[in-house]
Amino acid sequence: MSAAVGWPLALGVLGALLGSFIAALVIRWPQERSVTRGRSACDGCGHALGPSELVPLLSFAMQRGRCRRCGAGIDPLHWRIEAAAAAVGALSGCVAPSWIGLAGAVFGWLLLALAALDLVAFWLPDRLTGLLAATGAVAGVIGSDPPLADRLIGGIAGYAVLAGIARGYKVWRGRDGMGGGDPKLLGAIGLWLGWRMLPAVLVIASLIGLGIAVFAQVRGRGLARDTALPFGAMLAAAAYPAWLAMIMLAP
Ligand SMILES: [Zn+2]
Repeated sequence: MSAAVGWPLALGVLGALLGSFIAALVIRWPQERSVTRGRSACDGCGHALGPSELVPLLSFAMQRGRCRRCGAGIDPLHWRIEAAAAAVGALSGCVAPSWIGLAGAVFGWLLLALAALDLVAFWLPDRLTGLLAATGAVAGVIGSDPPLADRLIGGIAGYAVLAGIARGYKVWRGRDGMGGGDPKLLGAIGLWLGWRMLPAVLVIASLIGLGIAVFAQVRGRGLARDTALPFGAMLAAAAYPAWLAMIMLAP
């Protein structure tokens, strides 16, 4: 099998498998349930899942989204995250059928977990953001583009820009306008993409936020001025396409 087919296929399958782990993490972690201990079980009745119920995406489709024992609806977060993780793997393998693609997929999968946690629980766990930062630095040390110096500047600049905006907002409005995890997340993204990509990430994230606000307006549910938007999820959703663009536009 050629690399152009093999890499997307392998990373897509790996993504679907990791996606079911990410889904369990996103559902269980905010409830302080163990993610690694205990077998995969129905979130409704606790029924331990057998092998045929553990195939990502397929099991969900075969069981029409319901638990085989109690009939409770399985959280659609499961198949959505599995599908998104498979797509991240396949896309990364398509644009870079090499170890670079694997690195990009790792970036995308970690961003997916962070985005989902921010959407579900308004929470960007430091341990996960730290893992994103560490893997970005390691990718730079190994020598993948962008160079390590660009990444380190990106890490510092990404954190400093958002921390500065958050501080300014607090002085101006007298309350927090941004979660404390957002500056750390942009710093970690900077360690992956380098400082040059940070303006693009901020612009795309803001456009996503604007899109959500316009959509809410059109649907007749205008956002109140103090509605909290999961900015971390928008940063994550912007950073992965930015990585794809960076790879595709590389000379
Ligand atoms: Zn059940």
